[in-house]
Amino acid sequence: MKDAKLVAKGHTEHISEIEIAPDLTGPYGANRTVGGKDLFIIGGPCSIESMAQMEAIAQAKLPIQGVRGGIYKPRTSPYAFQGLGEVGLDILSAIRQRYALPVITEVMAIHQIEKLVPHADVLQVGSRNMQNFDLLKALGEVNQPILLKRGLAATVSEFVMAAEYIASHGNPNVILCERGIRSFDSYTRNVLDIGAVVALKQITHLPVLVDPSHASGKRELVAPLARAAIAAGADGLIIECHPDPDKSVSDARQTISLEAMAALIDSLIPIAEAVGRNVRPHHSLNLVS
Ligand code: PEP
Ligand code: MN
Repeated sequence: MKDAKLVAKGHTEHISEIEIAPDLTGPYGANRTVGGKDLFIIGGPCSIESMAQMEAIAQAKLPIQGVRGGIYKPRTSPYAFQGLGEVGLDILSAIRQRYALPVITEVMAIHQIEKLVPHADVLQVGSRNMQNFDLLKALGEVNQPILLKRGLAATVSEFVMAAEYIASHGNPNVILCERGIRSFDSYTRNVLDIGAVVALKQITHLPVLVDPSHASGKRELVAPLARAAIAAGADGLIIECHPDPDKSVSDARQTISLEAMAALIDSLIPIAEAVGRNVRPHHSLNLVS
């Protein structure tokens, strides 16, 4: 791809394997690598709402490798819930430490970076910020891996060049995330671009995750799209789930229950096997004291 150097296939002989939260050891420690043979599956709510909500997810013994949840939320309407903000930082830290569960959360602006770094293992760049070049440059200077979501209407090439911004400013640990693109059809919230998943794996050495929640906008579509993503060679998934999905303060319609999340992950096992990948089994939950 024109101009892509550091993230292009060929820059290294290998597919990048990105280590997440190397300092954490504990029950969720079975797989800490994105881009290896084991799938990396992230689950959690759209927005962090309370400690009780996050405790319920951590205690559900889902075979996930990371928990997601936004405290800074990019909402279409300025009147919609904007996230807990700084109050949510303590929740992120508590869940991370108590369960040794890596935490993924969105960073919307440069000034939030230093607040989030001590509390989160992976910083997510949302779709709406994929070409916020100043933010991408600033994230080149952090040590945490960056989960870069594809822009709502970004081409594959623009997406790859956004990753190149982060890498060229010093942070090679970029995880790409296909989360659907805009089309003429509003039946699904976005259109999951499975072809892009395959293309990204061919033209970059970066791990590629898929977000079937934002891609579909409808909870009944999430599991089939997740299976399609793994069949196509995605390295993992990021999925919105909630102890009481209808009560989610944001993205309720696309949010699945914890039971549905467990069933979804189970259903990936034969598909993962068919494409030479593993799904990590349920761990036994021993709280980190
Ligand atoms: C999210 O992950 O909650 C989110 C806002 O995603 P996206 O940036 O893909 O819309
Ligand atoms: Mn969401």
